[in-house]
Amino acid sequence: MRISDIRATTVTVPLEAPLRHANGCHWGRFVRTIVEVETDNGLIGLGEMGGGGESAEAVFRAMKQYLIGHDPARREEMRFLIANPTASLYNNRTQVLAALEFACLDILGQAWGVPVCDILGGRLRDRVPFASYCFFRYPDPRTGSGEVRTIEQLVEHTCELKRRFGFTTHKLKGGVFHPDYELEAYRALADAFPEDRLRFDPNGVWSTEQAIRFGQAIENLRNDYLEDPVFGMNGMRRTREKVRVPLATNTVVVNFEQLAVNVLNTAVDVILLDTTFWGGIQACVKAAGICETFQLGVAVHSSGELGIQLATMLHLGAVIPNLSFAVDAHYHHLTDDVIQGGLMSYKNGTIGVPNGPGLGVKLDREKLGQYNELYRRLGNYPYDQDPARPGWTPIIPNDRWADPKDDRRVEIPY
Ligand SMILES: [Mg+2]
Repeated sequence: MRISDIRATTVTVPLEAPLRHANGCHWGRFVRTIVEVETDNGLIGLGEMGGGGESAEAVFRAMKQYLIGHDPARREEMRFLIANPTASLYNNRTQVLAALEFACLDILGQAWGVPVCDILGGRLRDRVPFASYCFFRYPDPRTGSGEVRTIEQLVEHTCELKRRFGFTTHKLKGGVFHPDYELEAYRALADAFPEDRLRFDPNGVWSTEQAIRFGQAIENLRNDYLEDPVFGMNGMRRTREKVRVPLATNTVVVNFEQLAVNVLNTAVDVILLDTTFWGGIQACVKAAGICETFQLGVAVHSSGELGIQLATMLHLGAVIPNLSFAVDAHYHHLTDDVIQGGLMSYKNGTIGVPNGPGLGVKLDREKLGQYNELYRRLGNYPYDQDPARPGWTPIIPNDRWADPKDDRRVEIPY
């Protein structure tokens, strides 16, 4: 079996409402590039990568000269072929490798008649638990609904998410407003859901002293962990010395070099694995093994996924024994998907690991065309800009917070 073609299509899929974060906003939609790898015996494997547009599509087209004629089973060979770590100094293709690895695993699963999790060690669980992943949100500019700005709105929104999807772990994405306001918001969630578990993530924009203040103030709550309160290993290490809450990261330990540093001189307790950032599902399984050996915690990060990427997270979640936290996903903020059957469904805060061969998801070509057309009309959006504050940027440590009393509606083209 040989790879005979690689295709990439960029899509944009609407969210319920724009999601605010420390660096700006997801402007009411995600942009993703869907990758199809075809083999000479007619199989098609699926991959997905964040961002997109002409440049992402061109990168995947350029990979054809490396991979046409390549056996998709030789995944380690592919890693060195397109993402050799020393060559990556000039041209980092970790995320490209990840999307192609998803597709190759999908092909192998179809060829061998097994789900991807069976190739990666076999499933330990049939369903993977997810966290609510609550954001402060601007109202949807089309409908005016969906705003999460006040603490009352946040609690109400989280109640609704729990009712609809059954989440028992709530993650609050902060770093938008002053930390004192966000502390009040986090405590309100703890009061509203006394049985549930909590986690907070301000995306690394605080000073170490602010991180310590916040961390100490939440020590009595049911925290899974405090995620990236500061940006940098030593800031995390200094925070960890003074705060009795586990620290987690998806920013300062995102590759094997950094994981080695963290093992030798620990700054972070829980490593958030991301099937894209780490270069594939297999790389995450390897990293989880290192965490198992050194007894570090493991959770799964979300960089904003459609169903193909979600399937990679489910197969990963199925096979790693040391997954002791609910997985993060933006998925429930989406209004639609490009896979057959539409959005995958939640039950009691969990999603079932696909049983079909390969990744177990298939493209809905009509939806792919529809959202590709939408992408071509709207283009990209600046993830690191706030639509209500043109030209604004946070500094680190940040002191340029948004105002929770500012209830202006944002104008975003759709
Ligand atoms: Mg994070």
